[in-house]
Amino acid sequence: MFGIKKDPLERLKTALGGDKVDTSIVQRKLYSYDATPIPVERSVPSAVVFPEKEEDVIKLVEICYEENIPIFPRGAGSGLTGGAVPTDERGIVVSFERMNRFEIDKDNATVTAQPGVVTADLQEAVERIGLFYPPDPSSFKYSTIGGNIAENAGGPRCLKYGVTREYVLGIKAVIKEGKVIQTGNPILKDVAGYDITKLFVGSEGTLGLLTSAVLKLIPKPPTRSTALAVFNSLEDVGKAVTSIMTSGVFPSALEFMDRDAIRAVENYKPAGLPKDAEALLLIEVDGTESAVSQQISMVSEILTKMGISVSVAQDEATTQKLWTARKNLGPALGNLKTGKINEDIVFPRTYLAEALPKLREIAKKYDLLMVVFGHIGDGNLHVNFLYDKANREEEERAERAVDEVFELALSYHGSITGEHGVGLTKRKFLRWQFGEAGYDLLRGIKLLFDPKNLFNPGKVVEV
Ligand SMILES: Cc1cc2nc3c(=O)[nH]c(=O)nc-3n(C[C@H](O)[C@H](O)[C@H](O)COP(=O)(O)OP(=O)(O)OC[C@H]3O[C@@H](n4cnc5c(N)ncnc54)[C@H](O)[C@@H]3O)c2cc1C
Repeated sequence: MFGIKKDPLERLKTALGGDKVDTSIVQRKLYSYDATPIPVERSVPSAVVFPEKEEDVIKLVEICYEENIPIFPRGAGSGLTGGAVPTDERGIVVSFERMNRFEIDKDNATVTAQPGVVTADLQEAVERIGLFYPPDPSSFKYSTIGGNIAENAGGPRCLKYGVTREYVLGIKAVIKEGKVIQTGNPILKDVAGYDITKLFVGSEGTLGLLTSAVLKLIPKPPTRSTALAVFNSLEDVGKAVTSIMTSGVFPSALEFMDRDAIRAVENYKPAGLPKDAEALLLIEVDGTESAVSQQISMVSEILTKMGISVSVAQDEATTQKLWTARKNLGPALGNLKTGKINEDIVFPRTYLAEALPKLREIAKKYDLLMVVFGHIGDGNLHVNFLYDKANREEEERAERAVDEVFELALSYHGSITGEHGVGLTKRKFLRWQFGEAGYDLLRGIKLLFDPKNLFNPGKVVEV
C-alpha cells in the first residue's frame, strides 16, 4: 500500500510538538535577519523551530536529514557576518532561546551550559560565587553561549584571558542523521584523539548543532585599574603597545581609539576624552591590590618615558566613564552616516606601527570616512568604513577599500577576522587566507560532519 507522503513540517510538528514549530509568516520573517549591518543573501525560512531539550534537536536533525531540509542554527542573532541568516526558503531556523539552563560545579570550577544561555546571565551567576568566565564580547548582555562558541567570540579582556576557545572543555552536538557526539570532559588536561572540541569552536553552525558545553571557570580577579594614554602621532601607538606588552606587565585589556573614534564618541555622549588627540589607548590591569598598583605604575612609567601623556583613573566612576565611552562606539558610529562596513582584521603586534598609517592611506585613496578602534593588544582592529546608503557609488568605494584592508592584513601575516567570523560576508576572503590546499581541507572537514551540506549551508566554506 502506498501512503500519502506527510509534509516535512507536519512531521516536525508531530515529532516535537506543535508549539515548538512556528510557521507563522511574522515569526519566519523576524527570524530571517541577524545584526549584519550590510545587505546579505537572505530567505524567509519555512519554519522557526524552538527545541527545549537535546531529544528535540536529535529528532529535528533526523527528520531534516531524511527530508533534505537545510538547518540554520541561531542564538540571539547578534552576529555581524550573516551566520544565523537563512539562505534557503525550504530551510528551517533552529532558535536555541528555550535551551537556556546551566549548572555550576564550583569544586571543579566548571559550568555546563545549554546553548541558549545568555552570556551575561552565566557571568553574573559565577561571579556571585567568586568565579570568573572571562570571554566578553560587547554583545554579552544578549548574545548566547552557543553563538559565542560557534563564533569563538572575544572581547577586550581576551588579551590576557584568551578567547571563548580557551574555556570550552567539552561539547555535546548533534551532527549528520541526528547522531550525537560528546567530546571532552570537565577536566583541564585531555589529549585523547583529535581535538574535536576545538574544531567545533568557531565552526559557525556548519558542522552540527551544539546542545551543551562544559566551560572552564577561573578565580575572579579582586581588583582592576585603568589608565588613559593620549597620542599625538599614530606611529607612536604601535610602539607603545609593543613596549607595554614586552615589559613584563600583562594588561587585562589594551584598547585603541583613533581620532575619528574619539570625536564620534564625544559627539554622541561626551565622556571628557581629548577631541584633538590623534589616538588614545585604554589600558586595564587586574589582580590583587598590590599587583595592580605596581603594574599600573609600570605602564605609566613606560608611556611617560616615551613622552606620552597618561592618567590613571582614581575612582570607579572615572573607570566606568572611560569604559562606557569605549562601549558607546557602536551607536556613536551609527550617528555619523547611514551605512557602515565594520571589519575585524588582525595584525601581528609588531607590524601595527606600520599598518595603522597604511590603513589611513587606504581611506584617503578611496576618499572615505574611516574609523578605527579595537583590541590593539592582540592586534585585533575594527576598521569601519562609513558611507551614505543612498549613494551606491560611495558604497562601492567602501567595498573596494575593504578588499585592500584584507589584503593588507594578510600581507602582514594577519587574519581577515579576529572575532566576527566568516559567515556569508567574508567567504571570498577565506580562500585568500587559506589558499587552495587549506580550503580543500576545510571543505573535507565540513562534509565529514555534514555530507548532505544541510547545516548552515553556504556559510564559511562553499562545498
Ligand atoms: C553591538 C554588537 C557588538 C558585538 N561585539 C562583539 C565583540 O566584542 N566580540 C565578538 O566576538 N563579537 C561581537 N559581536 C558579534 C556577535 O555578538 C557574536 O558573534 C556572538 O558570539 C553571536 O552570538 P549570538 O548568540 O547572537 O549568535 P547568532 O548571531 O545567533 O549566531 C552566530 C553563529 O552561531 C551559530 N549558532 C548559534 N547557536 C548555535 C548552536 N546551538 N549550534 C550551532 N551553531 C550555532 C549560528 O548559526 C551562527 O553561525 C557583536 C555584535 C553586536 C551586534
